Amino acid sequence: MYQYRRRLTREVVFGTFSLGGYQPIRVESMTNTHTLDTSATVAQCRRLYEAGCEIIRLTVPTEKDAENLRNIRAQLRRDKIDTPLVADIHFSARAAIKAVEFVENIRINPGNYANTQKFSNNEYSEEEYLKEIEHVRLEFAQLVEKARQHGVSMRIGTNHGSLSDRIVSRYGNSPEGMVEAALEFARICEAMGYYEILFSMKSSNVRVMIQAYRLLVQQADAELRYAYPLHLGVTEAGDGDEGRVKSAMGIGALLEDGLGDTIRVSLTEDPVNEVPVGFAIVKKYNDFHLVNGDRGHIPLRHIIESRNKQANLDRVSDELPPFDPFSYQRRVSSQTVLADFTIGGHTVPRVETEIHASLTDGVAIFEEIVQRLAPKKLQDAIRSEFVSVRINSEADLDYLDELLGRLGDAGRFVVASTSDVSHFARLLDKVPKVRFDILEGERLENDFLQLLGNERFAAVELCFLHNESGIAVPSRVLVHLAEKLRKRGVSRLLFSVLSEQVVFVYRRLVQAFNSLKLDYPLVVRYKGEAASRLENIIDSSVQAGTLFSDGIGDMVALHTPLSSDDEVNLAFNILQGARIRMSKTEFISCPGCGRTYFELEKATASIKQRMAHLKGLKIGIMGCIVNGPGEMADADFGYVGAGKNRISLYVGRECVAENIAEHEAVDRLILLVQERGKWIEPAEFL
Ligand code: SF4
Repeated sequence: MYQYRRRLTREVVFGTFSLGGYQPIRVESMTNTHTLDTSATVAQCRRLYEAGCEIIRLTVPTEKDAENLRNIRAQLRRDKIDTPLVADIHFSARAAIKAVEFVENIRINPGNYANTQKFSNNEYSEEEYLKEIEHVRLEFAQLVEKARQHGVSMRIGTNHGSLSDRIVSRYGNSPEGMVEAALEFARICEAMGYYEILFSMKSSNVRVMIQAYRLLVQQADAELRYAYPLHLGVTEAGDGDEGRVKSAMGIGALLEDGLGDTIRVSLTEDPVNEVPVGFAIVKKYNDFHLVNGDRGHIPLRHIIESRNKQANLDRVSDELPPFDPFSYQRRVSSQTVLADFTIGGHTVPRVETEIHASLTDGVAIFEEIVQRLAPKKLQDAIRSEFVSVRINSEADLDYLDELLGRLGDAGRFVVASTSDVSHFARLLDKVPKVRFDILEGERLENDFLQLLGNERFAAVELCFLHNESGIAVPSRVLVHLAEKLRKRGVSRLLFSVLSEQVVFVYRRLVQAFNSLKLDYPLVVRYKGEAASRLENIIDSSVQAGTLFSDGIGDMVALHTPLSSDDEVNLAFNILQGARIRMSKTEFISCPGCGRTYFELEKATASIKQRMAHLKGLKIGIMGCIVNGPGEMADADFGYVGAGKNRISLYVGRECVAENIAEHEAVDRLILLVQERGKWIEPAEFL
């Protein structure tokens, strides 16, 4: 929980390489062609191979598709493309049995493999429950046996939203149900002496996905013979920046935990686009191992069990997570008010961004502030609530006065940062919040502390500038200050650390705050200096997103080289990804695959363009009726492929309009949203 250590897993065979163990974290993608269309599928596999994709998955809906894997494989191998292939199976055991002959790995979904029911509300008696497990065992054992004969490994891939009726009847549609569904199949494998397995626990809800994987690790490590590898992914993450942010948050949070051996980023785009995103996510962790080779991992169950044990407390209590890793609960913080906004407590996390323009350039800084506080485009009706400027000199204080004069009322949202005590004192009556940056080794004298807590002046944020000399340092310094100031009754205080590794630093800080019952609000302040736009988006999402997904943070401030628009959008995308602040419509769209028979990417773009302003509404856009309705999980409305150029519309899980022609389906969806009273006009939204 406080430093990166990868969980050591069993190495599982994957054709030309193996996966897990000391192997690098692999990047996978999936074709969205029809598997019966050999030339289109081979062409797409080639493009994925050329993009560096390490594992290629293909959908196999029928035995015929499975049979055609023979031709696809032959053509790829003839062209010297030896990338391991994975057959993606839902429902059809016969397709699975056939596909095993032509692939390196087979993915089955425990929610629909050999289960006899789908989407019924049946209650299961104990006898019926056991009977169905036995039925599954008999069917699945045939696949296991054949996989063993062919040296093929298997992914037991559970998805939130496509659990079997039987599992749902006992565990609900929950992380616990997902874990049990996977373990049922793993038990069968182990009983047959077949150990070439890995797991996945996907969900479109980032928090559910993170919790499900952690829970699986806890239970699987307690029960199974080996620590099997994990394939990580957020399903139906969508497209564009939102899809990248959600994927990075879910996958990254688990990689930070040391979990994960292979990943797939699911985007509703050309699958080739998934590959660079995947590599951007795993790069840091693969590089870490090249340098460190550190694999020691303390299983979560040891950590949790230790909550109740006094023995060995000193060593283990240091490792206790400062939050529940298996269910979401926001850290309890006190409230403070800045300008028009309440911060902390139960209010949504606020967004602050740092102004890049120099104070000496009055025009540029004025324009940047206005743009951040009130963006011009409709799509960007989200805005930064605070903007921060840096004060480095006496002259800057004068420039700030000029700027505030020019900004008029908008000056209320400007905060200032400094590391100079005399500047700090003069800033306190100019802006609503002053951030004081504490350098490592710096001693803050009593004179400085006396300045804090005057209700007439600005709120103060004490920010430790972390230079990576140690994870514990920021918390020691800040906790010492927080304790001292609490004793003096200072309340309008916030705390932060400016760091590139905020996950571990903030966990340590929260742990220390919790132990002393300090509840000051925390500003998650991530500093990123990556070279590309994509890497900055990925790194910010992993670091800040992990904390918000675990309930830590009352405000977010990103310090990156990204443009104003990008940085503000990214901050809101992270909060939306963690489902802690919904600022626009949530789109849950699948990447499409061989089961898709309409123009999914075009439909997604059109729906997003017309409905992106419906704040808080969740819309599922799914490629097929086979898996779509289940996997769009908790969407309020669904747009689901029902056959060739046909769409069915859903309200929740209920299908309300079937087989609409594709060209009129988006209009019908909007009509449906209007009929259900969920529509607002874009102008009203502004
Ligand atoms: S929901 Fe989408 S990705 Fe999943 S099987 Fe259907 S079309 Fe393929």
